[in-house]
Amino acid sequence: MPQSAAVDRLPEALHATFGFNAFRGVQEQVVRRVLGGASTLAVMPTGAGKSLTYQLPAVLLPGTCVVISPLIALMHDQLRSAEANGIRAAALTSADLDREQTIDRFRAGELDLLYVAPERASQPHFRDLLGRAPLSLFAIDEAHCVSEWGHDFRPDYRLLRPLFDEFPEVPRLALTATADAHTRADILTQLGIPGEGLIVAGFDRPNIRYVIQPRDQPVRQLSRLMADHPGPGIVYAQTRAQVERLAETLSGGGRTVLPYHAGLAPEVRAANQAAFVASEDMVMVATIAFGMGIDKPDVRFVAHAGLPKSIEAYYQETGRAGRDGDPAIAVMLWGADDFARARQRLGELEPDRQPGERQRLDALASLVETAGCRRAILLRHFGETPPERCGNCDNCLEAPGVVDATDTARKLLSAVYRTGQSYGLGHLEKVLTGASDPRVIERGHDQLSVFGIVGAEEAHLIRPLARALQARGALLSTEHGGLMLGGDARAILRGDDAVLVVVPPRREKVRGKRGGP
Ligand code: ADP
Ligand code: ZN
Repeated sequence: MPQSAAVDRLPEALHATFGFNAFRGVQEQVVRRVLGGASTLAVMPTGAGKSLTYQLPAVLLPGTCVVISPLIALMHDQLRSAEANGIRAAALTSADLDREQTIDRFRAGELDLLYVAPERASQPHFRDLLGRAPLSLFAIDEAHCVSEWGHDFRPDYRLLRPLFDEFPEVPRLALTATADAHTRADILTQLGIPGEGLIVAGFDRPNIRYVIQPRDQPVRQLSRLMADHPGPGIVYAQTRAQVERLAETLSGGGRTVLPYHAGLAPEVRAANQAAFVASEDMVMVATIAFGMGIDKPDVRFVAHAGLPKSIEAYYQETGRAGRDGDPAIAVMLWGADDFARARQRLGELEPDRQPGERQRLDALASLVETAGCRRAILLRHFGETPPERCGNCDNCLEAPGVVDATDTARKLLSAVYRTGQSYGLGHLEKVLTGASDPRVIERGHDQLSVFGIVGAEEAHLIRPLARALQARGALLSTEHGGLMLGGDARAILRGDDAVLVVVPPRREKVRGKRGGP
């Protein structure tokens, strides 16, 4: 086998193919293992250089590396950059009109890389095609799609294993940026990769400062962030309407602020993206559709105007900041209503998908609710054992106050229960503080035992408390915006669970840059 020869020429080949002088992080480890014919799962954060780990072996080994990739757009991005490096590559998708020619080249052994979507790969005629072409490697991009534990399960990925099993001599290289321990174990099983084939890159991005705060005045909070960070930035919003509105509101002040979402005309989207990539101070307000495949190293801040989908998504989206290694900041603004909506959607899922989603949401809740180090939570989530404090997140820079609000929590939950689990927080606050409000009296809520049981000294806890209870699912929103008891409520009411509430430091401190006000 020519593998050993290939290994000897690794540095030369790296330079000749990509123009790079050295491998980064675990790249070399992955490449060597693959060249040795061993199946591998490489977990590497976005931007760590995953593509190289299959493209270099593809160039060095005889035969073709078949790359399974879930998105045509992504495939074509990679195809273009491979071709730009002189790699012989092609894609077999409905969007490629030269499919016949590609198949001929593939069979003749004239391709280093062949990109294909899982739906096509799992069809019988593709299996036949593989049987008639020289193969070097199966690369499975976005490999977390094979796992129901991952955040982006694709049933077609499950059909890959039987296909690969027909070619036992061809090694498999699964790649993902986003896999917690559970998902990783599942990917190994689903793709038939031995446990010792797991290679995990370090996930820490020390130059990114993490700041997470309640969203009480989003426009003011975001404007301040922009004022403090004049370099390019991304603001992620959850819906197209929010993107439009925020882009409009944040515009002005000499800064170009443009929107980006899937509802814009393709040429507008392309123009806005090009403007952003070229700019040194522009702010892009976008849905999460924005960012994939964009290589802009000098993004100075990434803000989330609402709760991200998962810790993985948060890590990936914030990871677009500070790729050049210079200081950058990631700010998340979250509200109790984000959790309320997410928990509601959870209830609408098929029962077997609920536990995974619930775990994902609980992990997010502990990230936003913690009084401890944000980075430590992130890195532990990805299986690392980080130091207790990082010194570069909001909570490390200034410890927030933590208040034991268990008593107040029980009062609030009782009030929710006794008023019939249908009133919003405003009304409950009035009942608890004993306000002489016409609506309270009209409903007879001034006759309840919970009327006026919250004194002035704890009244300020009600709102952060409600937020914390919603984050952990002890309070849920009804369809009409009222509050009702959720899973955790019972344990709190019984006195089995304590409720600690994080009281954020003064707003100014969250500006995040170079110390205090
Ligand atoms: P990922 O798929 O892991 O997000 P990419 O494969 O797109 O990352 O690589 C991210 C960037 O890093 C690309 O611009 C790539 O050219 C660059 N890169 C990858 N490996 C190296 C290396 N060894 N030296 C320098 N740059 C590299
Ligand atoms: Zn920290």
